[in-house]
Amino acid sequence: MAGLTAYKKKRNFKSTAEPSGKIKKGSRELKFVVQRHAASRLHYDFRLEMEGVLKSWAVPKGPSMNPADKRLAMMVEDHPYDYRTFEGTIPAGNYGAGEVEIWDEGTYEGLQKDPQKKDESVLLAELKSGSLKFILHGKKLKGEFALVKMKTADAENAWLLIKHNDEYAVASTYDAEKFTSKTSKVTKAALAKGTGKPAKGIRTAVKKKSLKQQKG
Ligand code: MN
Repeated sequence: MAGLTAYKKKRNFKSTAEPSGKIKKGSRELKFVVQRHAASRLHYDFRLEMEGVLKSWAVPKGPSMNPADKRLAMMVEDHPYDYRTFEGTIPAGNYGAGEVEIWDEGTYEGLQKDPQKKDESVLLAELKSGSLKFILHGKKLKGEFALVKMKTADAENAWLLIKHNDEYAVASTYDAEKFTSKTSKVTKAALAKGTGKPAKGIRTAVKKKSLKQQKG
Protein backbone atom coordinates (compact mmCIF):
# COMPACT_ATOMS: atom_id res chain seq x y z
CA MET A 1 0.00 0.00 0.00
CA ALA A 2 2.82 2.39 0.79
CA GLY A 3 4.94 3.98 -1.88
CA LEU A 4 4.13 5.55 -5.22
CA THR A 5 4.35 2.59 -7.61
CA ALA A 6 0.59 2.46 -8.28
CA TYR A 7 0.43 6.24 -8.69
CA LYS A 8 3.26 6.27 -11.25
CA LYS A 9 1.92 3.28 -13.21
CA LYS A 10 -1.34 5.11 -13.90
CA ARG A 11 0.23 8.27 -15.26
CA ASN A 12 2.37 9.46 -18.16
CA PHE A 13 4.31 12.44 -16.83
CA LYS A 14 5.15 13.62 -20.34
CA SER A 15 1.43 14.16 -20.86
CA THR A 16 0.17 15.48 -17.49
CA ALA A 17 1.47 18.30 -15.31
CA GLU A 18 0.68 16.34 -12.14
CA PRO A 19 3.80 15.88 -10.00
CA SER A 20 5.87 12.75 -10.71
CA GLY A 21 6.60 13.00 -7.05
CA LYS A 22 8.97 11.72 -4.46
CA ILE A 23 8.56 10.41 -0.95
CA LYS A 24 9.39 13.20 1.49
CA LYS A 25 10.21 12.92 5.14
CA GLY A 26 9.93 15.84 7.49
CA SER A 27 9.56 16.61 11.16
CA ARG A 28 7.19 19.52 10.57
CA GLU A 29 3.44 19.39 11.15
CA LEU A 30 1.47 16.88 9.10
CA LYS A 31 -0.52 18.38 6.22
CA PHE A 32 -3.87 17.55 4.68
CA VAL A 33 -5.58 18.70 1.51
CA VAL A 34 -9.01 18.26 -0.07
CA GLN A 35 -9.07 18.68 -3.84
CA ARG A 36 -12.24 19.14 -5.87
CA HIS A 37 -11.92 17.17 -9.08
CA ALA A 38 -14.18 17.28 -12.13
CA ALA A 39 -13.23 14.00 -13.80
CA SER A 40 -15.66 11.50 -15.37
CA ARG A 41 -17.77 12.47 -12.35
CA LEU A 42 -17.32 15.36 -9.93
CA HIS A 43 -15.78 14.21 -6.64
CA TYR A 44 -13.49 15.33 -3.85
CA ASP A 45 -10.09 13.84 -3.05
CA PHE A 46 -9.25 13.74 0.65
CA ARG A 47 -5.52 13.37 1.37
CA LEU A 48 -3.58 12.99 4.62
CA GLU A 49 0.21 13.17 4.79
CA MET A 50 1.69 10.01 6.26
CA GLU A 51 5.14 8.44 5.88
CA GLY A 52 6.19 10.98 3.25
CA VAL A 53 3.24 10.45 0.89
CA LEU A 54 -0.44 11.43 0.82
CA LYS A 55 -2.82 8.67 1.89
CA SER A 56 -5.82 9.30 -0.38
CA TRP A 57 -9.56 8.74 -0.54
CA ALA A 58 -12.02 9.75 -3.27
CA VAL A 59 -15.14 11.18 -1.61
CA PRO A 60 -18.03 11.32 -4.15
CA LYS A 61 -20.22 13.73 -2.14
CA GLY A 62 -17.39 15.61 -0.47
CA PRO A 63 -16.75 15.97 3.27
CA SER A 64 -19.47 16.99 5.72
CA MET A 65 -19.34 18.96 8.96
CA ASN A 66 -22.52 17.19 10.11
CA PRO A 67 -21.79 14.06 12.23
CA ALA A 68 -25.02 12.40 11.07
CA ASP A 69 -23.86 12.64 7.48
CA LYS A 70 -21.32 9.86 6.97
CA ARG A 71 -19.61 10.21 3.62
CA LEU A 72 -18.38 7.35 1.50
CA ALA A 73 -14.62 7.56 0.94
CA MET A 74 -12.98 5.14 -1.50
CA MET A 75 -9.34 4.57 -0.63
CA VAL A 76 -7.12 5.03 -3.65
CA GLU A 77 -3.39 4.85 -4.35
CA ASP A 78 -0.92 6.94 -2.35
CA HIS A 79 -0.13 10.25 -4.02
CA PRO A 80 3.20 12.11 -3.78
CA TYR A 81 3.55 14.75 -1.10
CA ASP A 82 3.86 17.42 -3.82
CA TYR A 83 0.31 16.63 -5.01
CA ARG A 84 -0.81 18.70 -2.02
CA THR A 85 -0.45 21.91 -4.04
CA PHE A 86 -1.61 20.57 -7.43
CA GLU A 87 -4.33 22.52 -9.20
CA GLY A 88 -5.12 22.72 -12.89
CA THR A 89 -5.93 20.60 -15.90
CA ILE A 90 -5.24 16.89 -16.31
CA PRO A 91 -5.31 16.63 -20.12
CA ALA A 92 -7.79 14.41 -21.96
CA GLY A 93 -6.58 10.84 -22.37
CA ASN A 94 -4.79 10.86 -19.01
CA TYR A 95 -5.87 9.09 -15.83
CA GLY A 96 -8.39 11.30 -13.99
CA ALA A 97 -8.60 13.73 -16.94
CA GLY A 98 -10.38 16.95 -16.00
CA GLU A 99 -9.95 19.95 -13.71
CA VAL A 100 -8.58 20.00 -10.16
CA GLU A 101 -8.72 22.74 -7.52
CA ILE A 102 -7.86 22.88 -3.85
CA TRP A 103 -11.06 23.00 -1.79
CA ASP A 104 -9.44 23.04 1.65
CA GLU A 105 -6.01 22.56 3.18
CA GLY A 106 -4.16 22.85 6.45
CA THR A 107 -2.41 20.81 9.09
CA TYR A 108 -3.73 17.83 11.03
CA GLU A 109 -2.84 15.70 14.03
CA GLY A 110 -3.82 12.36 15.47
CA LEU A 111 -6.58 12.38 18.06
CA GLN A 112 -5.12 9.55 20.13
CA LYS A 113 -1.82 10.57 21.69
CA ASP A 114 0.86 8.14 22.84
CA PRO A 115 3.76 9.85 24.64
CA GLN A 116 6.02 6.93 23.63
CA LYS A 117 5.31 7.27 19.91
CA LYS A 118 5.33 9.88 17.16
CA ASP A 119 1.89 11.07 16.05
CA GLU A 120 2.54 9.58 12.64
CA SER A 121 3.28 6.09 14.03
CA VAL A 122 0.00 6.08 15.92
CA LEU A 123 -1.86 7.20 12.78
CA LEU A 124 -0.21 4.50 10.65
CA ALA A 125 -1.21 1.80 13.14
CA GLU A 126 -4.79 3.13 13.12
CA LEU A 127 -4.82 3.21 9.33
CA LYS A 128 -3.83 -0.47 9.24
CA SER A 129 -6.52 -1.32 11.78
CA GLY A 130 -9.16 0.42 9.60
CA SER A 131 -10.10 3.16 12.07
CA LEU A 132 -8.31 6.48 11.90
CA LYS A 133 -9.11 9.39 14.24
CA PHE A 134 -7.66 12.84 13.68
CA ILE A 135 -8.10 16.60 14.14
CA LEU A 136 -8.14 18.85 11.09
CA HIS A 137 -6.94 22.45 11.19
CA GLY A 138 -8.27 23.65 7.84
CA LYS A 139 -10.15 26.71 6.67
CA LYS A 140 -13.40 24.80 6.07
CA LEU A 141 -12.80 21.49 7.84
CA LYS A 142 -12.08 21.88 11.55
CA GLY A 143 -12.07 19.65 14.57
CA GLU A 144 -12.32 15.90 15.05
CA PHE A 145 -12.97 13.42 12.25
CA ALA A 146 -12.72 9.68 11.74
CA LEU A 147 -12.12 7.50 8.72
CA VAL A 148 -13.55 4.05 9.31
CA LYS A 149 -13.21 1.10 6.97
CA MET A 150 -16.56 -0.46 6.01
CA LYS A 151 -16.68 -4.15 6.80
CA THR A 152 -19.85 -5.04 4.95
CA ALA A 153 -19.39 -3.12 1.71
CA ASP A 154 -19.11 -4.83 -1.66
CA ALA A 155 -16.12 -2.70 -2.49
CA GLU A 156 -12.93 -3.57 -0.65
CA ASN A 157 -11.66 0.02 -0.49
CA ALA A 158 -14.81 1.58 0.97
CA TRP A 159 -14.36 3.74 4.07
CA LEU A 160 -16.61 6.32 5.74
CA LEU A 161 -15.48 9.86 6.52
CA ILE A 162 -17.28 10.93 9.69
CA LYS A 163 -17.34 14.24 11.57
CA HIS A 164 -17.20 13.84 15.34
CA ASN A 165 -19.54 15.82 17.55
CA ASP A 166 -17.53 18.80 18.77
CA GLU A 167 -17.78 22.59 18.82
CA TYR A 168 -17.25 22.75 15.03
CA ALA A 169 -19.93 20.21 14.11
CA VAL A 170 -23.13 21.44 12.43
CA ALA A 171 -26.63 20.00 12.81
CA SER A 172 -27.94 21.22 9.46
CA THR A 173 -27.41 19.69 6.03
CA TYR A 174 -23.86 20.24 4.82
CA ASP A 175 -23.13 20.46 1.10
CA ALA A 176 -19.46 20.99 0.20
CA GLU A 177 -20.58 22.33 -3.18
CA LYS A 178 -22.01 25.40 -1.43
CA PHE A 179 -18.52 26.36 -0.35
CA THR A 180 -16.99 26.58 -3.81
CA SER A 181 -16.60 29.35 -6.34
CA LYS A 182 -19.32 29.09 -8.97
CA THR A 183 -16.96 30.57 -11.55
CA SER A 184 -14.15 28.08 -10.97
CA LYS A 185 -12.77 25.96 -13.81
CA VAL A 186 -13.81 22.83 -11.92
CA THR A 187 -17.41 24.03 -11.67
CA LYS A 188 -17.45 24.92 -15.38
CA ALA A 189 -15.94 21.56 -16.34
CA ALA A 190 -18.44 19.66 -14.17
CA LEU A 191 -21.39 21.56 -15.63
CA ALA A 192 -20.11 21.10 -19.20
CA LYS A 193 -19.91 17.35 -18.68
CA GLY A 194 -23.27 17.28 -16.95
CA THR A 195 -21.63 15.73 -13.91
CA GLY A 196 -22.24 18.68 -11.63
CA LYS A 197 -24.29 16.57 -9.28
CA PRO A 198 -22.28 14.08 -7.24
CA ALA A 199 -23.37 10.52 -6.56
CA LYS A 200 -26.66 10.04 -4.71
CA GLY A 201 -26.81 7.65 -1.78
CA ILE A 202 -23.90 5.82 -0.23
CA ARG A 203 -25.35 2.42 -1.15
CA THR A 204 -25.74 3.23 -4.83
CA ALA A 205 -22.28 4.75 -4.90
CA VAL A 206 -20.61 1.69 -3.38
CA LYS A 207 -22.19 -0.57 -5.95
CA LYS A 208 -21.20 1.54 -8.92
CA LYS A 209 -18.22 -0.01 -10.60
CA SER A 210 -17.53 3.34 -12.25
CA LEU A 211 -16.22 4.56 -8.91
CA LYS A 212 -13.10 2.55 -9.49
CA GLN A 213 -12.34 4.49 -12.65
CA GLN A 214 -13.08 7.99 -11.37
CA LYS A 215 -10.91 8.26 -8.36
CA GLY A 216 -7.52 9.22 -9.82
MN1 MN B 1 -9.66 12.54 -8.10
